[in-house]
Amino acid sequence: MRISHLLQQLRDLGAKPCHEDRVLRGWSQVISYDTVHSPADNFFPQRLREGLPALEAALANLAQVQGEYAADGHTNHDSSPSPQSSPASEREGERESPSINLAEVARLLVKLADGQLTESVLLPRGGLCVSTQVGCAVGCVFCMSGRNGLIRQLGSAEIVAQVVLARQRRAVSKVVFMGMGEPAHNLDNVLEAIELLGTQGNIGHKNLVLSTVGDVRVFERLMEGLSHTVRSELVEDAKFVHVSTSSTRTDFPLAHHSKTRSKMVKPALALSLHSTNAALRAELLPNAPPLAVEELVSRAEEYARATGYPIQYQWTLLEAINDGDAELARIVQLLAGKYAVMNFIPFNEVDGLSYRRPSAERIAAMAYTLNQQGIYTRVRDSAGQEIEGACGQLRARAAKASNKLPRSLAGEV
Ligand code: SF4
Repeated sequence: MRISHLLQQLRDLGAKPCHEDRVLRGWSQVISYDTVHSPADNFFPQRLREGLPALEAALANLAQVQGEYAADGHTNHDSSPSPQSSPASEREGERESPSINLAEVARLLVKLADGQLTESVLLPRGGLCVSTQVGCAVGCVFCMSGRNGLIRQLGSAEIVAQVVLARQRRAVSKVVFMGMGEPAHNLDNVLEAIELLGTQGNIGHKNLVLSTVGDVRVFERLMEGLSHTVRSELVEDAKFVHVSTSSTRTDFPLAHHSKTRSKMVKPALALSLHSTNAALRAELLPNAPPLAVEELVSRAEEYARATGYPIQYQWTLLEAINDGDAELARIVQLLAGKYAVMNFIPFNEVDGLSYRRPSAERIAAMAYTLNQQGIYTRVRDSAGQEIEGACGQLRARAAKASNKLPRSLAGEV
């Protein structure tokens, strides 16, 4: 289901924009429809009140948790085999951050209304990683999600439903679109979900992080979403200082029309780079658009300067493949002076894939080198990565167990 379909159903029940907003807020934030001075029973028209239970049942059916796997290995609500066989502390090179609360980190196996499975990950400090597709067409060689190609797109309401499921467990203040799927291949639904979460869903714009392997359509649509006036102001400001989030967000008052809304919410952008070498990148990300890394960085930088949010470059570290000194030198060349953060993600070893993560010493040395050269570089915390880095494993195991996943046509939703 798409949010636009949900809005249509609300309108068919006599809802006006103010009623739609109240319902969308209640659903996406998992809060009551009542407000202090305006109980829903008085506020909603009768037809809407009568139709709401059926609508709520349909929304609840969009996505349900089939299994939940905690990073500390203590929670398993499902009969499928757990993907985590060894504690993080036993793994080579693991260094756990004292700031990470393992109890906050869990992978959810999410069952959709048609029986398809996808995954979400509860991350530390109120973060949530959501999927945008079942399967993925990019086919990155180090990722389980792309092994069987794209199964189907997620509708925007199914994407938001993952946030609702997470909020039924705990608070969510940041949503990253980095789970199963390439958001660029389902852009309308992803942007519709972002729009809702950034308006009625109470998530700050910079805390909505759209991730892509790099696709011209993403850059174009995101830049389109910045109104000309505001964009000019921001570009001007960015020449001197990083624009603060609070000052930019006030330029985007809430509106009642989804077309207007889509021009207001400005997500942060993460770009999966993984290599600076075009030939190697094409091997690692076989179906990513063949854009030169210079162009990717240049387009991403334009968006970073226009929004005031740094680009988060993602780099899965694979031993003896993309952890060499030549890559480091090239990263410095490409990102020096850019408004960027480099996220190193040590490869999470997965059944059936022969890649290895570099040693902890090498990872630390790489991060140190880049930081010394002025490229702000982080190594992802092990707890989040332990459970997050194996995107697609849960679904693959559950699919193997049931061996009955119907294959629908992509773009059906
Ligand atoms: S890493 Fe992301 S883009 Fe690549 S196959 Fe996996 S889900 Fe798709």
